[in-house]
Amino acid sequence: MTSAKLGHWTLPPVLPTVILALLLTTLAGCANRPQVPPGPALDTSIDAVGQDSRVLFLILHFTAEDMASSMRILSQGKVSAHYLVSDGSAPKIYRLVDENRRAWHAGESYWKGYTMLNASSIGIEIVNPGPIIGPDGQPGYAPYSPAQIDLLLPLVQDIVKRHAISPDRVLGHSDIAPQRRTDPGPQFPWLRLAELGLVRWPDAQRVASERARFERALPDLTWFQAALAKLGFKLTASGLLDAQTRQVLANFQMKYRPTRYDGEPDAETAAILQVLNQP
Ligand SMILES: [Zn+2]
Repeated sequence: MTSAKLGHWTLPPVLPTVILALLLTTLAGCANRPQVPPGPALDTSIDAVGQDSRVLFLILHFTAEDMASSMRILSQGKVSAHYLVSDGSAPKIYRLVDENRRAWHAGESYWKGYTMLNASSIGIEIVNPGPIIGPDGQPGYAPYSPAQIDLLLPLVQDIVKRHAISPDRVLGHSDIAPQRRTDPGPQFPWLRLAELGLVRWPDAQRVASERARFERALPDLTWFQAALAKLGFKLTASGLLDAQTRQVLANFQMKYRPTRYDGEPDAETAAILQVLNQP
């Protein structure tokens, strides 16, 4: 074994090896890292008063897949979400996309004049089978577990608060893409969110009195289509109970009257719409 000599210091033999290794690591690092020119010097000491979050909407989804498929699709494919709430006895929240970046969860979408909402929203996916055949042999939707909802509510509260998202902009995929999607579906506890002030919700007493009025005279399809469009939905004012109108009505009912979502323009649906559209 030899000792290296630096000036009058006698170094143990291990040190030159360490120095050489460090030097090589540094050189290798320089070779692999792209040469990014330094940006201009910035003075960030003053924050303008006139600014807000780029996030305007919060969109809720079910995955209609099991956990393994949901994670694979949302982390490896061409769709994604900022958050994924898993299922099972101890669900947890995965953050898959940073909130400062765009996730690909909404697709072609529209709400109240806004389009392509991926750019202006945060997306939360919840692992849930979605449409199923129930024990009675009838088509229905799978429930969410209480543990999932217990996790979800504080997450929604936190996001809404940080980005100052108004309650009429906390929406389902079923609101912004009603011809393609029904999620989060009629089992989603919108009322729980409404009780926390997170979602715009119609006052029950006002709905009851409007319902009595509409039972005496049900508005025509032109009225329903105008009211749904005023609320935010994209649909064509055909004046007919066509397939697109039935689908929008059904999605609206899944959210506000989940006991019946047949897409029929009835008095209670008219009353809910009327109250939601009043200031
Ligand atoms: Zn969805």
